[in-house]
Parts: sequence; structure tokens; C-alpha cells
Amino acid sequence: MLQSQAFIKTKREAPKDEVSVNAQLLLRGGFIDKLTSGVYSFLPLGFRVLAKIERIITQEMDAVGGQKILMPALQPKSLWEETDRWVSMDVLYKVKDRQEKEFALGPTHEEVITDIVRKHPLSYRDMPFALYQIQTKFRDELRAKSGILRGREFLMKDLYSFHADEADRQRYYETVKKAYLEIFKRCGLKAIVTEASGGAFSKEISHEFQVATDAGEDIIVSCASCGFAQNRELTEAKTGDACPKCGKPLTEQKAIEVGNIFTLGTRFSQAMKAFFTDKDGTEKLLVMGCYGMGLSRVLGTVVEANHDDRGIIWPKEIAPFDAHLIVLESKDAKESKRVFTEAKKAYDALGKVTIGKEKRLLEVLYDDRKGVSPGQKFADADLVGCTWRIVVSAKTLAQGKVEIKKRSDTTAKLVAFKSVVKEMH
Ligand code: ATP
Ligand code: MG
Repeated sequence: MLQSQAFIKTKREAPKDEVSVNAQLLLRGGFIDKLTSGVYSFLPLGFRVLAKIERIITQEMDAVGGQKILMPALQPKSLWEETDRWVSMDVLYKVKDRQEKEFALGPTHEEVITDIVRKHPLSYRDMPFALYQIQTKFRDELRAKSGILRGREFLMKDLYSFHADEADRQRYYETVKKAYLEIFKRCGLKAIVTEASGGAFSKEISHEFQVATDAGEDIIVSCASCGFAQNRELTEAKTGDACPKCGKPLTEQKAIEVGNIFTLGTRFSQAMKAFFTDKDGTEKLLVMGCYGMGLSRVLGTVVEANHDDRGIIWPKEIAPFDAHLIVLESKDAKESKRVFTEAKKAYDALGKVTIGKEKRLLEVLYDDRKGVSPGQKFADADLVGCTWRIVVSAKTLAQGKVEIKKRSDTTAKLVAFKSVVKEMH
């Protein structure tokens, strides 16, 4: 992509009202735009990252047998009354149409999915199955202060699984837990599986996936030795206490919840009368599990966990581009023309390179802007945070070379253009 033609508008300063690091860097880097508190647009750069996160999630959900669907955000009040959540769910956005009919803007989709499923005669042979979507959620959040970590409108992946019995649900739950860890690993996050209470959904323990960072609103108590972890809201344990599993000392740390998986049991199938016919011919309630993950929160968490004072350092698999190619203008017009010609050649050649197991094309953002100082171009490249920075200038060309630097490294290297791709591994 040519930066001179792209809608990438970087800023030196973040808006004063934005206190979180994720929103400050994403706004300054031209990744997002803030419409109002807790409501953001994803601009070309931000949407590229979001799409990559979506791709990873889709691959891993498909791998555990999830079937992708899309459910409505506009949901009739009657459905929410069946589960008593029209009144009990405090974050529910409620809207009225011209005929005074009331609707909820979906904060989650247990009601809608159960309604879909109960309309069909199901037998034990249909079980288990799992449906998921990636869709916009609405929640009337009071504390919309953490940038895109806590949106009032945000993107979530929600998977719902249906089983004939509790044992099968438990088996699938463990499978999804592993898939979640794979997703976070691919997104460059170190997620800690944390025991939490099931909240409104169930008496049983649920699991949260927590990423330790000071930007977190949660506090987790964990053991570095055996991996045991609990949410502070649950547990009495505190820093220095002996781990209940291995006896080593526990530590408390702030963390962001990037995912949450729940045992629903028959809570929803009972309230909404969703049955299947078992082997013995009797009607039984469906046993359910649900598994949530906020895509926009994952993106924001990646920024909180991977940045320095100059900008974002995207993990490789979700960087908006693999490489940021920069051409530096020369004062001499003739020389400048030659440098631009060489840089364009490099851009065209890099665009044809395939990388990785999938042999996908290398993605290059080419900063071909004229009238922008080298300092500004370098500052923008650090802010935007692509994995590699490649510089073509009169100085590098004088040695028949280009300069290459990894965003996460401090030193640059001069290499012959033909070695550039080899360097990018
Ligand atoms: P929290 O405890 O942070 O309020 P939650 O427990 O209500 O979240 P769930 O209903 O379990 O969240 O939602 C599943 C996932 O959706 C969360 O793990 C998180 O990744 C994401 N999520 C929840 N609320 C928001 C929000 N307001 N903005 C962005 N992502 C969110
Ligand atoms: Mg939660």
C-alpha cells in the first residue's frame, strides 16, 4: 500500500481525554477513531489488525468444530423476559420502535441461540454441536475509560456448544480451553487461565483468560511455579500465601480479561424449553457451554502488553503490514528521482515475495510521501509498529544496500537488497 494515498493520519499528541495507553497509541497511530465514550471506529490500519485477529479466531474455532453463523443485534424483549434477564442484566441497552415495541441490543446471545436451536427437533444423534459468531455487542458500561478494552459497542466472538450430557460438555470445554490458549499465543499474548466464579450463569467455576498488565481492571492471584491462578474476586488468597496446589508463594497482579468460558448447564435450556430426544426416547434438556472473547479487547490488550515510548510493537502474525518500506528524499532532485526509482523497484519486488508455511504474499506499507522529513517518517514507522522497517536512501544506495531493522530491535543493519527477505525470519 502506498502511504501517500492511504488514509493513515498519525498524530504527535493523543487527545487529552484519553487516559489509556491502548487508545492513546491507537488514536495517534491512525488505527482507530473515537466517536463518543466507549464507541470507536476501526480505520484502515486498525481494521487490518482486527481482520487478522478475526482470521486466527475463525481458524481455531473451525478447528474445534465450531460452525460460523451471524445473529441479530436487535432482539425482542419477550425473549429476554423468558430468562428474566430483561430486568436483571444491568448493561442491557433497551430501545423502543414507533409502535412502542421494545427490543434489547444484544450484549450476548444465549437467548437468541437457544431460540434458534429449540425450533428444531433434535435427537442424541445431533449432539454435540457448536455454533459461533463474530459480531458487534452492545453494553451500557459505566466505566468506559479503558479505551477499546471496555467498549459500549464492541466486537466479540461468542461460541455456544450443545451436548447430551454434562460429561460431554466438560470434554468439549477442555478442548475449547486449549484452542483459546492457541489463539492468544498466535496474537502474541501470554494468557493465564484463571478460575473465576460463574457469575449470573452458574454456580460452577468458570475460567477467565487473563493477561497480566498494569492496565488491567482485574486482580489475579497466581503461582508462577505451577500455573494455578484465581480471580481476586473469588478467592481469599493474597501475595505471599502458599499456593493451594504446590505450596510455593502466590503473587497478585493486575490483569485484563481477554476471554471467558462458562458452564451453562441447563440454565438456558430450562428457562427456554430447549429439548432433545435421548437414546431411551425421553425428552431431555440440552446441556450448554458458552465461550466469549472480545476481539477489540484482544487488540487493545496487545497494545498494552507490546509497546515502548515510541509506539506499538505488533506481534508478527497480527501486524498491520509485515514491512514498512521508507524512502528518504534527497535535496538534489536528480538524486532523489533515482532513490525513488530504486525504492519503487524494491516495493514491487517485495510485494511478490511469499512467506511462511502458508506461502502468503508479504504485506508492505510503502512510505512514498514527499515533503515529509526522515525524522517524521521514522517516528511514524515506530508508532505504527510494523514488524520490519526497510529504508532506501541516497546513503544506503551509495553502498549498494538498504537498511533493515526489526521494530523490536534497537539496531539497524545495512544489507544488499537481495538479502532482505532472508533477514525477515
Ligand atoms: P468484564 O468482566 O470485563 O466486564 P464480562 O465478564 O462481562 O467482562 P463476558 O460477558 O464474559 O465479559 O464477555 C466475553 C468477553 O468479551 C470478555 O472476556 C472480553 O474479552 C469481552 N468483553 C466483555 N465486555 C467487553 C467490553 N465492554 N468491551 C470490550 N470487550 C468486552
Ligand atoms: Mg468476565
